[in-house]
Amino acid sequence: MKVYNSLSRKLEEFEPIEEGKVYMYVCGLTPYDHAHLGHARTYISMDTIKRYLIHKGFKVLHIQNITDIEDKIFNRSRESGKSPLELSEKFHTEALEEFKRLNILPADYYPKVSEHIQEIIEMIEKLIENGHAYETETGVYYSVSSFQEYGKLSGQKPEGHRSGARCSIEETKKDPADFALWKKGPDVLTYDSPWGEGRPGWHIECSAMGMKYTNGRTLDIHGGGRDLAFPHHENEIAQAEGALNTQFVKYWMHTGFLTVNGEKMSKSLGNFIVLKDLLEKYPPYALRLFFLHSHYRSPVNYSEENISSAQTTAERMFNFLEHADELPATGGAENQELRKKLQDEVDGFYKAMDDDFDTPAALSYMFGIMTECFSEMRKEHPDYPAIAEAKEDFRKMMWVLGLEKEEKKISPEKEKEIESLVQERENARKEKNFKLADEIRDKLAQMGILLEDTDKGPRWKIK
Ligand SMILES: [Zn+2]
Ligand SMILES: [Zn+2]
Repeated sequence: MKVYNSLSRKLEEFEPIEEGKVYMYVCGLTPYDHAHLGHARTYISMDTIKRYLIHKGFKVLHIQNITDIEDKIFNRSRESGKSPLELSEKFHTEALEEFKRLNILPADYYPKVSEHIQEIIEMIEKLIENGHAYETETGVYYSVSSFQEYGKLSGQKPEGHRSGARCSIEETKKDPADFALWKKGPDVLTYDSPWGEGRPGWHIECSAMGMKYTNGRTLDIHGGGRDLAFPHHENEIAQAEGALNTQFVKYWMHTGFLTVNGEKMSKSLGNFIVLKDLLEKYPPYALRLFFLHSHYRSPVNYSEENISSAQTTAERMFNFLEHADELPATGGAENQELRKKLQDEVDGFYKAMDDDFDTPAALSYMFGIMTECFSEMRKEHPDYPAIAEAKEDFRKMMWVLGLEKEEKKISPEKEKEIESLVQERENARKEKNFKLADEIRDKLAQMGILLEDTDKGPRWKIK
């Protein structure tokens, strides 16, 4: 299996450090507001990668941080009068529920900055000890020039001051490129440290928490959005490697940019899409398939048209499985040509996924399986065992891609209401009041209930 490593800018053979085990770290949310479409893109991509690794038999340990100590949360806290931890908890819980609906497998750990201040302080102390950090009256800073390999991930050299930029707070830094590990002084929420009251800078958390949950061992995969490569991930490397003198990450994986109707998504352009709103309009699998139509590293453009066509396609895929499930698993006429074609499609799927998780190519093989099977089903004596086998392969692929229908739940009260409407309709039919019977059927349809009249009486299901 080959993966593209942003660090070497090459496709590399995937070999985790420990055989059969993958330590994966993904930069998580700064929960100061609702999760948006960009988050969905990153986390669906990383989830598909994780699912494929699990499918291949790897044990995956997935760590995803929560940045609950951050200026944006502090600003929200000042505006609303709510505590920053309460705010971040609320938005994070909400986001996790949306991610669950998107069929994103949960991480093994969701470490919070507020609960890892000690680990962060220890790493900063190590950095000072190793000559990579220094204290001034405003904070503790990382000395970028002390780390020879700075820039190895992004190819970008440290940023200097923009002329005219106001940064009086940071004037105590030795070099404008240096970045804060610890910020001194009062704030919405502060902690005690060897450098007095203050709070950690943004980048240090991922190095400290990433290393904590692997016991100081190199991570196999570190993932995140393309926009995080510089300076965030570059700084993560400088901190972790500067403190521990060991490689921080073996494979860096970055997801591509997202545009909305061809433009960058931003609040000021008015094209900002909140996940919560989108999930009210479209089923989660539509969003998932929409992203899978592009390679995880490619830029992706969101439009209503693209997502509704993804919805139609996903429903065809579910429909294929449902249809195939109704067929016998034995009998019919053996069709060697079909079997050969189906085997090629299945092999094609896995080859595509082995090639840096090429989901668009993998999907085209799945569509091939559907086409072959549907045309076989129309024959007088279809090769049932071949269809049954292809169906099981297809189901596994659906799991890898995370394409599953949401289990629809219905409250007991609603169920009673439906049952009594169905009964009412039966009575109306017996009395030959077909007008009323039709009205009730329409009412049920509006409630999202599909009614079928069978030999054994009426049956209903959720649409
Ligand atoms: Zn991070
Ligand atoms: Zn300045």
